[in-house]
Amino acid sequence: MMKNSKSIPPYMEICLCHRCADVYYNDPNYWIEKTEYFQSVLEACSVCRQYRGLYYSIWKKPSNVRFDKSHR
Ligand SMILES: [Zn+2]
Repeated sequence: MMKNSKSIPPYMEICLCHRCADVYYNDPNYWIEKTEYFQSVLEACSVCRQYRGLYYSIWKKPSNVRFDKSHR
């Protein structure tokens, strides 16, 4: 088994316009990073499909994981 520093396997790569990317940036449940991905043409946003955008990698934070040491 591999141990990852982030230890969060599920992530997605989607095309987001700056509006929809802001939604993820402001959502504390997600990590978002711009994908290092060669793009010569901007593609339509996967969420709203109204604006063009860039690819982003998104991780969902494990909300069910707790590190509560005081509780024992
Ligand atoms: Zn959008």
